[in-house]
Amino acid sequence: MAAYRVPQARKPQIERRARRQTLTARVIGFGLLWGLVGMMVFTADRALPREHLPWKALALIDPVGAATKAKAARIGADPAACRAILRQGGLEFTEVAPRASGFCAIKDVLQIKSGQAPLLPARAPMTCKEALAVSVWERQVVQPAAFDAFGQAVVAIEHYGTYACRRQYGKDEGPVSEHASANALDVAAFRLADGSLVSVARDWDDAGPRGTFLRRVRDGGCRVFLTTLSPDYNTAHHDHLHLDMGGWPKCA
Ligand SMILES: [Zn+2]
Repeated sequence: MAAYRVPQARKPQIERRARRQTLTARVIGFGLLWGLVGMMVFTADRALPREHLPWKALALIDPVGAATKAKAARIGADPAACRAILRQGGLEFTEVAPRASGFCAIKDVLQIKSGQAPLLPARAPMTCKEALAVSVWERQVVQPAAFDAFGQAVVAIEHYGTYACRRQYGKDEGPVSEHASANALDVAAFRLADGSLVSVARDWDDAGPRGTFLRRVRDGGCRVFLTTLSPDYNTAHHDHLHLDMGGWPKCA
């Protein structure tokens, strides 16, 4: 029995129909996919707290959530939006004049004056993005951790500096430090309301509340800052937490 053959004249017609059907199937598939994504976004927007939603504004009263780091990085890079959030959160600050100095140029830099546990030394110029992250961390990580561990507030955060015109680890060559653009903070210790000091250098390995507190503020830092480095990272960080809002995300 002879095999059925499609007449030559009908082949292009069949191919055109097949292409149309494939295109229609693709359009329907994409439509369904976007519809599903839209429904998920709509549901999330209504059901989840805003700290988990990257498209919602950041506020200093929000607990740290899944989207906090992304929001702090994105909104913090917008000078006007960043300052508006700091003001809404009750922080006062002074502007630091931009400085053009090779890889140590700074812009969009300010100093927090009041509204949170002061940084000591008080001279601590930071990019607005870094200041915003520090404020979120101080309110939503450090203070709750201090109340849980010690039943009292942190009244000052002692540090080794924010702005320093140098490369990483003070080397002559290699990657430029985030400190060179005032985009980092090195936290050395926390002063509690009763006057006692919780020090990274002395208390990191403490098995009691002091060590628990320090590791908790490091872990919380990882959810706010792009880079958080502690004594667990290397010996260069044995005495401080390095917290910055630039470079590759790292938590150690
Ligand atoms: Zn540092």
